[in-house]
Amino acid sequence: MSDLVTIDDALEAILARARSLESELVPLLEAHGRVLAHTAVATIDLPPFPSSAMDGFAVRAADTPGRLSVTGSSAAGRPTSASLAPGEVIAVATGAVVPEGADAVVPIEHVLYHDNSIEVPSAVAVGANVRPRGGDVAAGEDVVSAGARVGAVQIGALAAAGVTDLECARRPRVRLLSTGTELRRPGEALGHGEIYESNAPMLEAVLRGVGAVVEVLPPVEDDPDELRATFAEGLAGNVLVTSGGVSVGAHDLVRSTGSELGVDEVFWGVAMRPGKPLFFGVRDGTLVFGLPGNPVSSLVAAMLFVRPAVLALQGASDPGPGWADGTIATPARRAPLRDDLLRARSAVTPDGVVLTPVPGQESHMITRAALADALVHVPRGDGELAAGTRVRYLRLD
Ligand code: AMP
Ligand code: MG
Repeated sequence: MSDLVTIDDALEAILARARSLESELVPLLEAHGRVLAHTAVATIDLPPFPSSAMDGFAVRAADTPGRLSVTGSSAAGRPTSASLAPGEVIAVATGAVVPEGADAVVPIEHVLYHDNSIEVPSAVAVGANVRPRGGDVAAGEDVVSAGARVGAVQIGALAAAGVTDLECARRPRVRLLSTGTELRRPGEALGHGEIYESNAPMLEAVLRGVGAVVEVLPPVEDDPDELRATFAEGLAGNVLVTSGGVSVGAHDLVRSTGSELGVDEVFWGVAMRPGKPLFFGVRDGTLVFGLPGNPVSSLVAAMLFVRPAVLALQGASDPGPGWADGTIATPARRAPLRDDLLRARSAVTPDGVVLTPVPGQESHMITRAALADALVHVPRGDGELAAGTRVRYLRLD
């Protein structure tokens, strides 16, 4: 494994092979977390009418200041049919139609009330407290662009703009295959030499979060025939993610099995720690990731590479990973040939996000990693990063 690729080159090679899947029409709420295939446009002007921003009185600005008579009222959803004549005002509620003839709203707190009239003590500007028709968006204008992910805010915006269904890329079908004779499912009794299989549930959680439909294949022992049979099943999806068995040991069979089954290797080995022996290949459009078995290695590789691939398959314009900037709180030694991904806790301070690596940075220490909420990138090089150095980090969720 002499030719390690860099993290950025590995990601580029992966994204170049992650072609967008076809799209389908989905109801608005089901689009949560998915990627828009076509830009969604407003079907109405929003607001659809000049709308009052306050509880108060609709006025003609030119009539103010002055004493004006109250001739009617307009409540939210109950507009008045009357229009405003000079010298008149109409009581309006927040969200009510500002009647024809009015060009401003005086808040109720700013007027003196007499029986059927009000005193407006000072001049009101034209347009004050009126939300103009189409002031948020006009019918036909873009609300959410193709390639964007649909979150709660986008769902609210699209519902408000009259959109009920969205064209979204199909959810990628991801199959997970854990390899290792030592693996038992959580809940089973452990024999001597055995451990719980923790990568599949973790990877499923990571990938579901970005819209994948995940199927967990039965874990396989380090046996070539068993592995080949289940590996072949895994190739039927859009993405196959294996874990374990991808290093240089006698029982590491993933790479050779992939090659027997016609997977074209794109790279094997990334200049990073943890996660170095990562394998990536393609078979008939199916992306194949061979993740190292150590749980933290699997996590890092999933965050850095598999998650962006799943988003790219959905046509995301920014598949990530979503690096952010922070500073490292304690010195970090740099490895000469490999970038480090440290598990760290983040804190928001007046000077930005400060990242403190958690104790226990070995790649099997998944419970230590669970104390972290960030992966900090320490670029390879000489010496160390001093405390306070700017670094990029990825949020773990
Ligand atoms: P491997 O990559 O197969 O050499 O495995 C490296 C380390 O990760 C070994 O200690 C394995 O027991 C452990 N490991 C492999 N697969 C899993 C898994 N699915 N869940 C938890 N630990 C694993
Ligand atoms: Mg193994």
